[in-house]
Amino acid sequence: MKEDLERLKQRLPLLEYLQQHHWTACRTGPRQEWVGLCPLHPETRPSFYVNARKNLFYCHGCGRGGDLIRFVELSQHLSFRQSLAYLQQRMAAASDSPLLEQTAAFYQLQLHRHAEAVEYLQGRGLHDPALIEELGIGYAPGGTLHRHLAALGYSFQSLWQAGLISRQGHDRFWRRILFPCRQQGHIVNLYGRSIGSAFPHQLLPRSKGGLFAWETLHHCSSVILVEGLFDLAVLWQAGFRNTTCAIGTHLTPPQLAQLGDRPGRCIYLAFDHDDNQAGQRAAHRLARQLASAGLIARLVLLPPGHDPNSYFAAGATAADFTRCLERAQQP
Ligand SMILES: [Zn+2]
Repeated sequence: MKEDLERLKQRLPLLEYLQQHHWTACRTGPRQEWVGLCPLHPETRPSFYVNARKNLFYCHGCGRGGDLIRFVELSQHLSFRQSLAYLQQRMAAASDSPLLEQTAAFYQLQLHRHAEAVEYLQGRGLHDPALIEELGIGYAPGGTLHRHLAALGYSFQSLWQAGLISRQGHDRFWRRILFPCRQQGHIVNLYGRSIGSAFPHQLLPRSKGGLFAWETLHHCSSVILVEGLFDLAVLWQAGFRNTTCAIGTHLTPPQLAQLGDRPGRCIYLAFDHDDNQAGQRAAHRLARQLASAGLIARLVLLPPGHDPNSYFAAGATAADFTRCLERAQQP
């Protein structure tokens, strides 16, 4: 464990990690020391120091300091073990990233070659070609990925380990619309939505990563949180670009920490409105969690039986959804 830890800290220097998380700093003095605003407490004068040679930080404002793991513990509100797992997962995802990029690019090319995929998107109210391109949406027709990636030099073993193909070499994603999930530019997972009778949702066997597109949203004072990527896509299409998605109603500790990185942020929960009340219960549970983290939670009520995707696919306009936001309830 100690060795793992040292290797990890060498491969991911503290300064690099901070910069990936939008920490801006100036060099101070001739030594490898940097100073900037503390990411752990609100302040207006920089008192957070990083010694790049020693790989350590110290804040004169809040008195906290330590190494990369300590920083992750404090900033993400994770235990030591959780922090280590979080960082290891990030590193693994980064090293697998080229394979997932190639996979996503291949599936993206397939989208327009298969009428059933384009029709499916239209049926779900997604019609803006620029947005479909921006989200990198693709289609897995099935049976062709292995051959394509083998030609690019990827081994059978690496595809199987990544969960892209079965032991028999069959595509794991088959007749599914694909959404790449990115974090700091890297694809960390792929989400596939079945267009046939197979179980609707599929992710690769790895962490689902942080909140969708959080890099572009972390400055927002109000955020719309939805369950699914089709909900997100139609909301972006309608101009609600402050929408993010956790893929499901359960948020991981790092995802909760992302929402909480700006105190007082307002989170609109626009979950599915199911007959069995599962979505509503999940929204209430999450709203309580958010409130205890110092955030403002609002429950967006859609017409019975609707989720944001079906609401727009049924003809709702941006004005309709804005009214839903205005009427959003306190939990
Ligand atoms: Zn501080």
